[in-house]
Amino acid sequence: MTIDGSQMWGRQTFGVVDPATGAIFAQAPVCTVEQLDQAMDAALRAFHEWRREDDLRRAMLRECAQVLLGALDELAATITAEQGKPRAASVAEVVAAVTWLRYYAELDIGREVVQDDRHGYADVVRRPLGVVAAITPWNFPVALAMWKLAPALRAGNTVVLKPSPYAPLSALMMGELLGRVLPAGVVNVVTGPDPLGDRIVTHPVPRMVSFTGSVATGRRVAAAAAGGLKRMTLELGGNDAAVVLDDVDPEQVADDIFWAALDNNGQRCMAAKRIYVAGSRHDELVDALAARARATRVGPGSQPSVQLGPLGNQTQVGRMAEYVRDALAHGAVLAAGGTALDRPGYFYAPTVLAGVTDGVRVVDEEQFGPVLPVIAYRDVDDAVNRANASDFGLTASVWSADPERADAVAARLDAGQVSVNAHAAGVRPDLPFGGHRCSGIGVENGIWGLHSFTDLQATVRPAPKRPRQTRTG
Ligand code: NAD
Repeated sequence: MTIDGSQMWGRQTFGVVDPATGAIFAQAPVCTVEQLDQAMDAALRAFHEWRREDDLRRAMLRECAQVLLGALDELAATITAEQGKPRAASVAEVVAAVTWLRYYAELDIGREVVQDDRHGYADVVRRPLGVVAAITPWNFPVALAMWKLAPALRAGNTVVLKPSPYAPLSALMMGELLGRVLPAGVVNVVTGPDPLGDRIVTHPVPRMVSFTGSVATGRRVAAAAAGGLKRMTLELGGNDAAVVLDDVDPEQVADDIFWAALDNNGQRCMAAKRIYVAGSRHDELVDALAARARATRVGPGSQPSVQLGPLGNQTQVGRMAEYVRDALAHGAVLAAGGTALDRPGYFYAPTVLAGVTDGVRVVDEEQFGPVLPVIAYRDVDDAVNRANASDFGLTASVWSADPERADAVAARLDAGQVSVNAHAAGVRPDLPFGGHRCSGIGVENGIWGLHSFTDLQATVRPAPKRPRQTRTG
């Protein structure tokens, strides 16, 4: 772990599994209660200096970007080993982290002058909060950590980061790399199985919890953070609808929709997880998606030609089997896949289910895996109502040959981000990303994401009083 600028082991370790083999290939440290206190104290001490020098922070973020780029191969190999995604996708993940660092290094955090006239002066500034607790999931262990680190640091906070116990190694490596640039205590990385997450949220030092993970854990985090009235950002699950209108040629959109749904085996919060298609196009779209599912090369992410690696862990494989069983029992038809692969590791065939209806688990819940339901709708109102009939509201998409029609439908979808003829096309450092309803509280990215790591402070200076006129005579 990286604590107060030093590399530390815990008293115990836990095994990290390679999902491509199902075997433990590394040990990670279990953070003790004392070590967590040490990390928090170090972050608090470092905060007082770190918050002061804006230009220094910018320069150090640029340097951090260089250091990560220099370790690109090593970091990417580690992501693939612990999380499973193909090597090229891991490289892209590290490059994304570098892009985020560079974006925030250049972002100006302005002072807003509200009044500057003969009656006085008033402005508003953004002040850092102090120590931020950052808690991340296993699906993008480096990129999602950086969505927190870069804006939190740029705003002047210090951080204690805890990655998922399923994928702790790349975050540990990142802590060591960033520690080569940053002053001791500015970024601390601790690992261990839960209840470490809960101990971090309830620890008295952090003033904010920046959490990415499932809705169920998000609720626990919100309840625990409420005790200390801590600021929080919750980036939670999604069950994103893609609405395909009847003027679309299914063959033309099938590639984009397939990869919007199945990239990283569907283990992305913003994956297309329910495909609503006009009844007249249902069969054609199912055939086009199923053909792509069958043609996809699945295997260990370390093999160059592989397009999809294993699922993140054993639990995921069991969940996919459950979803398929339930959908078939309720009248869905298997168009492709539907089984775990007969080999070591956590492999599941890319799966397309046809003729699915709402009320089936794979439609109503977040499957977070490579099982894609295709649902026929009657008319556009029906599609919009069903797409919106969800507790989730992270991203959504509309597919149409007619941009005006697509825009009109997009405006009716209730989600933090809606794309037209693409899905989750706006996952960029300069756009806000966050969920409506149970998909989250607050946003990450852009200036809006940075604002979450700050409190507002107004400074007011009324015009000096004129000396009172005194009456004489
Ligand atoms: P998870 O909720 O099981 O775990 C997330 C993190 O929380 C892990 O680090 C875990 O150790 C920690 N944790 C567990 N219990 C905790 C507690 N009581 N207090 C504090 N921390 C605790 O999620 P996961 O399985 O790792 O990730 C998958 C989920 O994350 C999916 O629902 C996915 O949609 C969501 N996700 C959301 C986004 C987004 O930006 N909205 C991005 C990626 C993933």
